[in-house]
Amino acid sequence: MNDYIPQAFASDPDARGHFGKFGGRFVPETLMPALIELDAYYASVRFDPDFWAEVNYYFMEYVGRPSPLYKAQHISDEIGAEVYLKREDLNHTGAHKINNTIVQGLLAKRMGKTKVIAETGAGQHGVATATIAALMGLECEVFMGEKDVQRQELNVFRMKLLGAKVHAVTSGSRTLKDAMNDAIRHWVTHARDTFYIIGTAAGPHPYPLMVRDFQGVISYEAKAQLLEKTKSLPDYVIACIGGGSNALGMFAHFIEESSVQCIGIEAGGHGLESGKHGASLALGKPGILHGQLSYLLQHDEGQISEAHSISAGLDYPGIGPEHSYLMEGGKVVYDSVTDEEAIEAFVWLSRAEGIVPAFESAHAIAYLKKMPPEMIKGKKIIVSLSGRGDKDMIQAMELLKL
Ligand SMILES: *Cc1c(COP(=O)(O)O)cnc(C)c1O
Repeated sequence: MNDYIPQAFASDPDARGHFGKFGGRFVPETLMPALIELDAYYASVRFDPDFWAEVNYYFMEYVGRPSPLYKAQHISDEIGAEVYLKREDLNHTGAHKINNTIVQGLLAKRMGKTKVIAETGAGQHGVATATIAALMGLECEVFMGEKDVQRQELNVFRMKLLGAKVHAVTSGSRTLKDAMNDAIRHWVTHARDTFYIIGTAAGPHPYPLMVRDFQGVISYEAKAQLLEKTKSLPDYVIACIGGGSNALGMFAHFIEESSVQCIGIEAGGHGLESGKHGASLALGKPGILHGQLSYLLQHDEGQISEAHSISAGLDYPGIGPEHSYLMEGGKVVYDSVTDEEAIEAFVWLSRAEGIVPAFESAHAIAYLKKMPPEMIKGKKIIVSLSGRGDKDMIQAMELLKL
């Protein structure tokens, strides 16, 4: 199983990064040479066994892959289905994000870059980037909204401990979307020696394709693991969606299987009718943010709305372009789960299986209880457990009276 190489799928973008009408490369002219350089370089290694042998070495020896596909027997019994958890929470640094940063770091090195930059919201992608920068001897600068720097002291310290420099971004709403704007701005003037490590399957081409390829290892493994355990494919595959990278990674090798239904779960926040949520696909409209055309939460005049979710990783007003394309083509079903339902599932999984999920992943778990019983009876379901809940302990302690 330690022989992962990406695969071309029917939903691959065209040469300019268009997934149907979505995606593309909406960036300042000065950034085009850097994107074209990256695009050409990635095309040269996308299917190169030597490059992937190196990636697989780090996946196995450093990240701890393959991650187990664990049959959650107690929740299976409770809902009358067979539920399998893809344990990305067991990866080094506690989530799927390191799959992506490892590969982008190796690309940076091969392209002769000496510095990496990243944007981060709660700090998970910042930590995963600072980690691989330390591993690979790269200088690292992380852009983080000032509001998030204050809220996420521990991750800020962790990044500094790993040797990264953290920039507190003071523009706009001082959160993730502004951090990403500043990272792009920095890259424009430093592209010669700097590689921009984007944390989700979004941004200008070729990032959405690259990140899906890198996270695709999740479904590559899960498919083989379930076939080995049960000799069959799953009926449903469920994952939460912020920008959409763990979901695309979890769906990639299942989307073209006609007997498998992939389901993406957006952040319902206080409820879709409340206006406070992160459901870009359900309630957004196509628009341009961070170099791509995709569904986007926006006001009537096109101003970006602020997203809301209890989980910082789903608190993003946009979504990767491939999801917009998959939704319009009816290939994947999308739904949402509220903060309250996610917290309930957070406690449920902790107590039923002894596994504390990240708040993000708890959204996918919660969906198991929202599906009508007749829909799931006796079915095989894989859920992407994108991360562990350690990072959410302080917030959970404030929310739960135990
Ligand atoms: C960042 C994060 C997410 C959301 O990001 P995607 O790109 O949508 O996967 C989900 N779960 C965890 C644990 C995260 O850290």
